[in-house]
Amino acid sequence: MEIREQFLPYALPCTDQTEIDAIADTLRSNWLSRGPKTARFEEEFATYTGAKYAVAMNSCTAALHIALLAAGIGPGDEVITTAMTFCASANTIIHAGARPVLVDIDPVTHCISPAAVEAAITPRTKAIVPVHYGGHACDMDAIHAIAKRHNLFVLEDAAHAVYTQYKGKMIGGLSGATAFSFYANKNLSTGEGGMLTTNDEKLAACARQLSLHGMSRNAWNRFGKGGSWYYEVDFPGYKYNMTDIQAAMGLVQLSKLEGMQAVRQQYAEAYNKLFAVNDAIITPVTMPYTRHAWHIYAIWLKKGAFLIDRAKFIEELSVYNIGTSVHYIPVHMHPYYVKTFGYKPEDFPQALAMYEGIISLPLYPGMSAADIEYTAAAVLEIADKYKA
Ligand SMILES: *Cc1c(COP(=O)(O)O)cnc(C)c1O
Repeated sequence: MEIREQFLPYALPCTDQTEIDAIADTLRSNWLSRGPKTARFEEEFATYTGAKYAVAMNSCTAALHIALLAAGIGPGDEVITTAMTFCASANTIIHAGARPVLVDIDPVTHCISPAAVEAAITPRTKAIVPVHYGGHACDMDAIHAIAKRHNLFVLEDAAHAVYTQYKGKMIGGLSGATAFSFYANKNLSTGEGGMLTTNDEKLAACARQLSLHGMSRNAWNRFGKGGSWYYEVDFPGYKYNMTDIQAAMGLVQLSKLEGMQAVRQQYAEAYNKLFAVNDAIITPVTMPYTRHAWHIYAIWLKKGAFLIDRAKFIEELSVYNIGTSVHYIPVHMHPYYVKTFGYKPEDFPQALAMYEGIISLPLYPGMSAADIEYTAAAVLEIADKYKA
């Protein structure tokens, strides 16, 4: 096949004049930080996810950290999460003063294995942080059943799952708390940003206060007409709030989300069909209980089927001018986690096997159907060339 001239990036944000106009409107309004647009974004996001409360943050990492603190988790506690995730899922447990306990994944869904969660519970376990890998929902009934039996808090890392459903219900209002990411490459983006959702009024109020210095009134309350200059600091909180510049973009992106997701769904199905001719290219499985958000489309190279390893396969794809990524280098293989907790790569065999075989392919609304066909053709050509 002929090699394309222009590089196809692995991911691109999906914006147009509408976002530019919305941000310009915020700049002209002179209210730049947390204000009316952030409040509206919180309301609309809560409505969209079906959660009672939404608290806007400057990242998903901030939302995870704050949710753990608001749930009362701290030193001496253990929190269970998956090895196959972005480091923030585990780092934030450490930020809260607790100990992250990593467990293996289910090899089909790539999400946390409920059986592995159950096996890792000790008297110190306080919470579970399931991650909806790639936008595929975790087995939430199994996780909630374990949480109920052992009286554990469930904090969903929904960084990939802004459109995901579990058994027909939106992710966001199903657990103790849920954290979403609006990072530059996420399905809904505000450049940087995040949202904490919950049905618990006390937790929402505590999270809001924790995200703004621990102050009992925020700037919007204080500086608007009729606001009071007086506030109290009840605890040393953080500076994790969202700005109205971000919220302006978020409101536009939320209004476009269904349309953007329809394209992701169509492209994921196209990839699945195109790869069906080669059973050494294992495609993602969608369990009937989930509506998939398709944040990540990762193929898994069948072990022993190729003369080259995954790293070389990625190099070959770059010759075709295709950008790729790997989601993820398992948390337990990063130097800090090896040094601090003594993890070995083989401790989580499913996560390790997945890591050695996966390649995330370009998938976003801004690319064309022809880009999808080109990428699949390149993968299949390399696969044939290096067939074992
Ligand atoms: C992107 C991501 C995060 C962190 O999101 P930020 O908004 O960048 O803080 C956390 N967890 C997972 C699984 C992610 O992919």
